[in-house]
Amino acid sequence: MAQIHETTLEIDLKALAHNYNYLSSKLSSATKKLGVVKAFAYGSDSVEIAKKLEELEIDFFAVAYTQEGITLRKGGIRKPILVLHPQSTNFDEIIQHCLTPSIYSKFVLEHFIASAEAHKQNHYPIHLKLNTGLNRLGFDPDEVNYILQQLKNTSSVKVEGIFSHLAASEDPNEKDFTHYQIETYKKVSEEIIEALNYKPIRHLCNTSGIINYPEAHFEMVRTGIGLYGFGNSAEEDKKLIPVASLKTIVSQIHHLKKGETVGYNRKFKAEKDTKTATLPLGHADGINRIYGMQKTNVEVNGKLAPIIGNVCMDMLMIDITGIDCKEGDEVILFGKEKSAENFANNAGTISYELITSISQRVKRKFIY
Ligand SMILES: *Cc1c(COP(=O)(O)O)cnc(C)c1O
Repeated sequence: MAQIHETTLEIDLKALAHNYNYLSSKLSSATKKLGVVKAFAYGSDSVEIAKKLEELEIDFFAVAYTQEGITLRKGGIRKPILVLHPQSTNFDEIIQHCLTPSIYSKFVLEHFIASAEAHKQNHYPIHLKLNTGLNRLGFDPDEVNYILQQLKNTSSVKVEGIFSHLAASEDPNEKDFTHYQIETYKKVSEEIIEALNYKPIRHLCNTSGIINYPEAHFEMVRTGIGLYGFGNSAEEDKKLIPVASLKTIVSQIHHLKKGETVGYNRKFKAEKDTKTATLPLGHADGINRIYGMQKTNVEVNGKLAPIIGNVCMDMLMIDITGIDCKEGDEVILFGKEKSAENFANNAGTISYELITSISQRVKRKFIY
């Protein structure tokens, strides 16, 4: 492995292919696959990830916001892109860039129909989002008649998909609630399909839904975190390969005497003679202050070194007492062997939050 010289997020597209194939092995061959590439593809790089997924013949993409979809189009992505959370102010751009809106409320439906008519669209594809218990976005089951009435009065849009989102698909203690969501989704989507007289693509499952609820795959599944190498359980994590590895180097080493302190507000105090290293990344790079104060570790030459004191904006300090290392040596925050899930859990958060926080300042390096 070539030595790195600055803070780098390595993105392994072979690992992505492995994860894609593993998740595909959980599906029947007829089930379509949607890759969720919101938030810079979970903190990596949305265009490079989407290009690789297109090569692997993925069927669909999803992003959270309209600008993320436009970035993919400008990057040359041609497959359908579902925008999960559009606002009415985005509808002109959505139509101009051939993005597919999630329609989740009466307000959004009325305004999107008006935009599609203003742009003289015929059968512009939309996906209806149903609220089955997450209570975040989506039509309530009792709004179906209203939806159908609106659709009857226009040919500007066509329901290409009907979807919902599970609240706790990773949690075995919430199986009853998940089954309730699946049943509600089935019932409400069937009601819509009956009235439409054609069959839109139904999709409900996220990564943990794919793994834990094979009976609920319907015509398509949506996977995010699994593609990036995390399965929300130790068992599944073993089968997946983390795509992103965050590496940096030792910038400077200090030898402290007992009683000396490190960093802002002097939050680390040496209880004995201590060797510390300063690393060139901080909370502006996505290693937030929650990871400081010895909550979690980095790896230096195969040994674990705690992050000490307060994490600064551009730097953080680690305790390397007893570790054989020198300035310029590589430091691993997380990667294939050293799990981002552990790094995050030690500080009371989850891999999703850690990996999506790695800021755009960090250099990306792709392994093809
Ligand atoms: C983010 C998101 C997903 C992906 O979930 P994972 O747990 O990362 O697989 C799927 N569907 C919706 C609606 C989302 O917002």
